[in-house]
This record gives sequence, C-alpha cells and structure tokens, in this order.
Amino acid sequence: MATHDQLTGLYNRHYLFHSAQKKIARSIRHQTPVSLAMMDIDHFKLVNDRHGHPMGDAILQSVASLLEKQSRKEDIVARFGGEEFIILFDHTELQSAERKAEDLRQLTEQLKPEGLSVTMSFGVVELQSDNNHIDDMIKRADEALYLAKEAGRNRIVAA
Ligand code: GH3
Ligand code: MG
Ligand code: MG
Repeated sequence: MATHDQLTGLYNRHYLFHSAQKKIARSIRHQTPVSLAMMDIDHFKLVNDRHGHPMGDAILQSVASLLEKQSRKEDIVARFGGEEFIILFDHTELQSAERKAEDLRQLTEQLKPEGLSVTMSFGVVELQSDNNHIDDMIKRADEALYLAKEAGRNRIVAA
C-alpha cells in the first residue's frame, strides 16, 4: 500500500505531501483557508516500556481510528511518523482548527485505549499566503507542538 500506513490504515507521509500540495494550490487559487494540526502522543515511550510494544501498537490503532472517525471526508488524516499524526483541514481557518483540535484532545483523553490514560499535544497553524509550501506549514506546526510539550503536554498551541 503506497498511500496508506500499514499499522493504522491512515494515509502515510508520502501521500500527505503529495495531496497537500494540490490542496494548497487549490486553496490559494480560490482564496479559501487551509489549516494543519500536528499531534504527538505524550510520553509514548513509557507506554511501550511499561506495557510492551504490541500494546503500544494497539493504542496507535485506537487513536488513529478516533482521528479518522472525527474528521470530514475532505480532510487528510495521516500518520506522519511513529506516534505523530497530521490532519490537514480543508476550508478551515485557524480558530476553527484550534476548536477541532481541542475536541480531539478531549476525546483522546476520554478514550482510555487498552484501559490506559493517553493524551496528545497539538501544534496548529493556518496556511499563509507568503509561506505556502506544505514543508513550511509542517515546520511551523512542529514548532508550535514543541511549545505545547514544553508547556506541560496534553494541550494545544496555535501559531
Ligand atoms: P513526548 O511526550 O515528548 O512526545 O515523549 P515520547 O515518549 O512520546 O517521545 P519519544 O520520541 O521519546 O518516544 C516516542 C516513542 O514512540 C518511542 C518509540 O518506541 C515509540 N514508537 C514509535 N513508533 C512506534 C510503533 O509503530 N509502535 C510502537 N509500539 N511504538 C512506537
Ligand atoms: Mg514523537
Ligand atoms: Mg510523543
């Protein structure tokens, strides 16, 4: 499967980059907003260390399925790397993306996959007209995510 991640069934990183550039080009032409959330499971290494890698895998699958279920058809939900996910929100400005991320943060907190407490941190950004490559969006989201981690995790930083 060249477009999907095997473990979670979400889109993979390769597909994300490919489709995001198209979405961004369209959104610039039509002057509609696009936002991106990067999220990372908090202290996931501890989950693996305490409960084993198969349990970690099951948790990744549960979180992925939550993200998929909560997203619109036109959004792109991807596994970006190990325990990192990205959602590209079509037709969505920063404030709405931030609200959406807050919903996802709360739902993840309530999920209790495999009976464990799992939380995620989020970095949320909107496409800027002078900074309109997917790499730039991801870089800015990653910086915001880093701030969310620094500020204590299980939270959202929108930039
Ligand atoms: P932080 O809150 O700062 O994000 O801490 P963290 O422990 O989540 O971050 P760190 O980057 O130290 O660890 C990520 C862990 O994710 C380590 C790695 O073993 C685990 N991981 C990555 N991919 C997979 C996978 O496919 N399955 C499982 N079970 N674990 C994975
Ligand atoms: Mg990580
Ligand atoms: Mg992590």
